[in-house]
Amino acid sequence: MTSPAASAPTFADLTTMGVGGPAARMVSPATEQDLVDQTLIVWASGDEWLLLGGGSNTIVADEGFDGTVIRVLTRGVDVVSASSPASPSPSDHPDRLVLRVQAGEPWDELVAYTVAQGWSGIEALSGIPGSTGASPVQNIGAYGQELGNSLAAIDFLDYDSGERRRMEAGELELGYRTSALKQGLRGLVIAVELNLHDTQSEASVLGGALSRPVSYPQLATALGVQLGDRVPLAQLRGAVLALRAGKGMVLDPNDADTRSAGSFFTNPIVSLAFSRTLPDAVPRWPLGEQELPDRVIPLDEYAGVGPIPGERSVPLVKLSAAWLIEHSGISRGFRLPGSRAAISSKHTLALTNTGGATADEIAQLARLVEARVQSEFGVILQPEPVLVGLDA
Ligand SMILES: Cc1cc2nc3c(=O)[nH]c(=O)nc-3n(C[C@H](O)[C@H](O)[C@H](O)COP(=O)(O)OP(=O)(O)OC[C@H]3O[C@@H](n4cnc5c(N)ncnc54)[C@H](O)[C@@H]3O)c2cc1C
Repeated sequence: MTSPAASAPTFADLTTMGVGGPAARMVSPATEQDLVDQTLIVWASGDEWLLLGGGSNTIVADEGFDGTVIRVLTRGVDVVSASSPASPSPSDHPDRLVLRVQAGEPWDELVAYTVAQGWSGIEALSGIPGSTGASPVQNIGAYGQELGNSLAAIDFLDYDSGERRRMEAGELELGYRTSALKQGLRGLVIAVELNLHDTQSEASVLGGALSRPVSYPQLATALGVQLGDRVPLAQLRGAVLALRAGKGMVLDPNDADTRSAGSFFTNPIVSLAFSRTLPDAVPRWPLGEQELPDRVIPLDEYAGVGPIPGERSVPLVKLSAAWLIEHSGISRGFRLPGSRAAISSKHTLALTNTGGATADEIAQLARLVEARVQSEFGVILQPEPVLVGLDA
């Protein structure tokens, strides 16, 4: 184990938000076996521990973390010949391709690779920072795709039992920006298995490898196609990257707006009954059965029509957090006097470090946004990133 680093690494260096104090200890395994071995050693030591991939969804307090950071640096992508047991047989889906990806593989490099190979399934998830191992934690999603659409299984090291096991996607309780891993299942994602489509066979007929059907209106508009159309994979990736860059949602050292954790708040999910008490202008979308999260915000308490603790029979709707923030009087670029934390100048949902901000400054801004939205609309925003030692 690489024990106490000579000069302790700080979370300001290890995370995309660029805030946070030192990590007391850190190990950085770069092979699958070393990752498993070192993780088991850290767990056996009784020390506090924290898994870290790209640090793009983690914000740590200025005091730092008095435990061991396990920084996952494993790399590798393998084509698995057999289809996943959870999936229909390959003969039902002759274009099915199963990839096994090491946890430390940078997510966007993986997407770029699959697009270049003509494999569809995760192309709309282009430009999301971070590691593949963290992708199931909050079931990453964007532009009409979610990891859950393609995830077959994970190779998992369970903290409670110390055992290594395969967990099918169906066991992971994937929902909108959530999973069992985010809701209390503790352990290490060693590798991720993805079901993709090898579009090469149709490419010769259609003149290029095509994406999955476009299902996000803004993306369809950018591409000049109809919802449900398929476009060349590289074209879809290019359009997503351009849309994301316009919102400061791709990492770019030349764009201070990208010094963030992406969207800081999830879109609130409320009951249909509660949503009817909100102004008509609030953008809202019915939540499909498959999208139901485990954690439902019991906002009906505020509306006085009774609690809705995760009842699947209660129709739910997703609200636009960005709209709620903007209409509670907080605009792009907003910052408190003297603070170096600001709302992104491109996207109200992102909190950014304009340079030299502290974690406290980020948390203070987050609390202000939450208080404004709650007092204006009675909606409680939930932070999306994993907060360590911080109250936001
Ligand atoms: C500019 C920007 C844009 C973003 N856009 C999006 C977006 O469009 N959609 C979206 O869903 N997210 C988005 N995000 C959030 C983030 O990129 C994703 O959540 C990503 O999956 C985090 O990966 P990471 O490796 O950086 O995670 P980290 O921040 O390192 O870790 C996040 C959590 O996962 C845990 N973890 C990390 N690795 C493992 C592992 N191997 N096993 C078990 N647990 C692990 C950590 O302990 C922590 O709890 C964005 C972030 C930024 C900065």
